[in-house]
Amino acid sequence: MGGRVAYRTCPLCEALCGLELTVDGAGAVTSVRGDRDDPLSAGFLCPKGATLGRLDSDPDRLDGPLVRGVPVGWDEAFEAVRDELAGVIARYGRDAVAIYVGNPTAHSVAGPLYGSALIKALGTRNVYTASTADQMPKHVSCGHLFGDPLAIPVPDLDRTDHLLMLGANPLESNGSLCSAPDFGGRLKAIRARGGRVVVVDPRRTRTAALADEHLFVRPGTDAHLLMALVHTLFAEELTAVPDRLPLNGLDELRALVVGFTPERVAPVTGVPAEVIRRTARELAAAERAAVYGRIGTCTQEFGTLASWLVDVLNVLTGNLDSPGGAMFPRAAHMPVYRRRRPFTTGRWRSRVRGLPEAMGELPVATLADEIETPGEGQIRALVTVGGNPVLSAPDGARLDRLLPSLDLVISVDPYLNETTRHAHVVLPPPRPAQTPHYDLALLAFTVRDYARYSPPVVPLPDGRPAETEILARLATLAAGTDATPADLDELVIMSTLGKAVAALGSPVHGRNPAELRKVLADGASPTEQRLDMMLRLGPYGEGFGADPNGLTLARLRDEHPHGVDLGPLKPRLDEVLCTASGRIELCPPAFAADTDRLAAALDAPRPDLVLIGRRQLRSNNSWLHNVPELLGGSNTCTLHLNPADAQRLGITEGARVRVTSRTGDVEAVASPTDTVMPGVVSLPHGWGHDLPGTRTRVATARPGVNVNAITDDQLIDPLSGNAAFNGVPVTLTPLPSPL
Ligand code: SF4
Repeated sequence: MGGRVAYRTCPLCEALCGLELTVDGAGAVTSVRGDRDDPLSAGFLCPKGATLGRLDSDPDRLDGPLVRGVPVGWDEAFEAVRDELAGVIARYGRDAVAIYVGNPTAHSVAGPLYGSALIKALGTRNVYTASTADQMPKHVSCGHLFGDPLAIPVPDLDRTDHLLMLGANPLESNGSLCSAPDFGGRLKAIRARGGRVVVVDPRRTRTAALADEHLFVRPGTDAHLLMALVHTLFAEELTAVPDRLPLNGLDELRALVVGFTPERVAPVTGVPAEVIRRTARELAAAERAAVYGRIGTCTQEFGTLASWLVDVLNVLTGNLDSPGGAMFPRAAHMPVYRRRRPFTTGRWRSRVRGLPEAMGELPVATLADEIETPGEGQIRALVTVGGNPVLSAPDGARLDRLLPSLDLVISVDPYLNETTRHAHVVLPPPRPAQTPHYDLALLAFTVRDYARYSPPVVPLPDGRPAETEILARLATLAAGTDATPADLDELVIMSTLGKAVAALGSPVHGRNPAELRKVLADGASPTEQRLDMMLRLGPYGEGFGADPNGLTLARLRDEHPHGVDLGPLKPRLDEVLCTASGRIELCPPAFAADTDRLAAALDAPRPDLVLIGRRQLRSNNSWLHNVPELLGGSNTCTLHLNPADAQRLGITEGARVRVTSRTGDVEAVASPTDTVMPGVVSLPHGWGHDLPGTRTRVATARPGVNVNAITDDQLIDPLSGNAAFNGVPVTLTPLPSPL
């Protein structure tokens, strides 16, 4: 097949695989292969990445802005934004404008570079993102433990001897908060070198099937299980905290876990007491071990406690910040000298439910309350950036009912989806092939230090703004200034350089920012200049002349088109720790207090059936259901339930079932399977594409049902505000077969 070859990072999940694209003369991506020369992914490719060309050329993508459904030019669209946004702010104040930033934004250059400027320009406290439907408990737990909510250790997969994994299914998700292309191959390698992989999950997932051992655990009880593991380590004197880990709170922690004996938690978790003890002993005995928890441990009512206890185990077994244990990657674009204030939450609270902010955000679980409840500060306008909260937020059906009540919805999104169909103004970003890529968010979670920059594969058409420019324009319009996107970039660059020259330990300490600025002015785009600056100031950077062999953007782009391996993870706790005490706070008071709730749950009545989610290899939330090649096979929206429950309720394979929760009901097709433990039912998320007014024809033809019509926005993890999607009480009603 003819055409030129181009290389880029896959933007479709956290694995960051390198891709080799073939591009024809018209700029269409005609084939996708794994880039064998990428040092991190080494040619690995999953079915999603293989369809990037189809996604790129999807005829349902919007190729220009819409104002009230009518195609308009970009200037007209931005004028509508300016006028209507100014009107809402004048009438109701800045807190009346909310912003929701969706998960795809984390996979873009534009989101991390311009998202915070947009939020700052809006000047609202009503900031919501997909983080509170996903990983906020991990941020809160690491924020308290280490002082920095972004200091999240990843399992050192390629060197560990023992991996204990909870609520994670990387064979379907390809990994999360741990960027590791071919995660499955890396797990097999642990076993091949004589190590052990243990998976804890209410489902026997594909990942669990690959492991040495799978433990079924009742949804929402991971924190109980983890407390019992910690209890066992203390009770059997198996802790081994090295002197190199400065700690506070060890004695407080020991006292806290006394009541969580394996016998006490076994009936609640479903994991036998002797298995809990053995699991703790095996973890302690392994020379190099890592405990890793992911979305199942976060999206539950004890999400922060579970996330905390994962790293407590890493600390107590001496595996934190140690090769083969849980380590902190050193991202090439993140300066290690930056000063960080110790982490805290609750600097303000949501208006209606009084929920605390975390990382400047309020829980998406209360977005509907803030739209619906009248009063000072009621949300009257919403800006969405790459998000579809109608399908991804708890009780998204309530949000769907409320969005038409808003005065203004502005959406930056390539599709008219279930959320953006309510938008008054839609500003579509360009195709992936027209967009540069440097994974600012996820390169902080790689299992080896690594960097890769992908310039646009095909140029933007004349007059088409890049996603970075769309967000920058939005920010300047929201601020109500006459500033241009270029002014904004200049402000950020000069501010960053100003801080860098003032910071002790910076490679440019004491130098003149204006002189440094000239180094960046080489004709590159503002986005590239900002990336270049970050790389130069980073731990592997050229330091504006301090290390002539260090990284610059030009060097990364031109000398390392397949990415650069910056070596295995290195111990660096001293760079990471920024608690007020300068020590790991092993037993934060807020977490200790929340264990009362955990203890009370030991005696709480258990629902007959609870709902959990399900990740699918050919899905990524709601993004990819409009790609024909990804539908079918295992990528179907069916209800999994244990055969014993199915028999008890008279439900057979293929039967229609009504699933009812406190918030509503959906009808789904049943698929009994012993991969789900008794008392648990599972529906995948991101489905429910049968709403009018969308323009996703492939997805609409196979809509599935929206699981978030029956998740509950009142069920949250109170410490982080994260939605508790797992463990939602439900009932099942068999329905008559269609005629
Ligand atoms: S695993 Fe993720 S990054 Fe790799 S090809 Fe698949 S979707 Fe892309």
